[in-house]
Amino acid sequence: MSREAGPVVARTRAELAAARAGMSGTVGVVMTMGALHEGHARLLRTAREQADHVVMTLFVNPLQFGPNEDFDRYPRTFDRDLEIAAAEGVDVVFTPTPAEMYPNGEPAVRVNPGPVGELLEGASRPGFFHGVLTVVCKLLHLTRADIAYFGEKDYQQLTLIRTMVRDLDLGVEICGVPTVREPGGLALSSRNRYLSPAERETALALSRALRAGAVAAENGEDALAAARKELEQTAVLDVDYVVLTDPELGPPPEHGPARLLIAARVGTTRLIDNAPVEIH
Ligand code: AMP
Repeated sequence: MSREAGPVVARTRAELAAARAGMSGTVGVVMTMGALHEGHARLLRTAREQADHVVMTLFVNPLQFGPNEDFDRYPRTFDRDLEIAAAEGVDVVFTPTPAEMYPNGEPAVRVNPGPVGELLEGASRPGFFHGVLTVVCKLLHLTRADIAYFGEKDYQQLTLIRTMVRDLDLGVEICGVPTVREPGGLALSSRNRYLSPAERETALALSRALRAGAVAAENGEDALAAARKELEQTAVLDVDYVVLTDPELGPPPEHGPARLLIAARVGTTRLIDNAPVEIH
């Protein structure tokens, strides 16, 4: 399993199990839906630094897409993804088909994300976090990873995964990795490739609003008002939510660490972003 030769590509559970059996020491897993960018690369690099072996999963999970969402048109760039995985020293890429992941069809038993799963992204995308947590749980078992790496870009997802691991005693370490952005501030996302040049400009309002909120963090109301004002200046942006919470997505604190989260639609593309804010 030499790195120079590139990762082992495992398409079945049996192939993954065989590759996994050859690993000693710690195993880090990075779960992706492909269409890799520098944000994914940062997760892979962090895993490479911390774990003895790195498994990357590449699976566009049908369970987490709603009927009117972009499952069919979600970007699929397998050859390029494999090049990036090779360059980042990934040992194994596990890329199952939906039938391999769900051999009995849609699973009857799913992980219930609880109340936090109904807020924010969960409110706009019913069933989304049931689908996410179910596939994450399955992939943790299949890879038997010691550490799993997730981006802060998907902050609610990261929070719910931490809660799932704690509440269900999954015995894996979860490592959050800060959001990678373009120089102008736009958070990297596989869905950014849907944006036209004009929409890309519009999308910059999300990160501008987060920065404005962080600067105005004398108190929670000021931080929120500054973020909202920035978003209102961009008329073509259809804002879904702007909220301030504590780091666990509970009510915002009077003082100390908080999180500002935004979701907005630019044309037909839904974008999310968030940032830490320190309330003075
Ligand atoms: P995805 O392929 O979109 O499901 O993302 C796979 C993983 O990469 C998730 O843990 C994401 O949070 C993470 N990720 C996506 N975009 C970024 C980014 N810009 N910076 C850091 N991590 C990211």
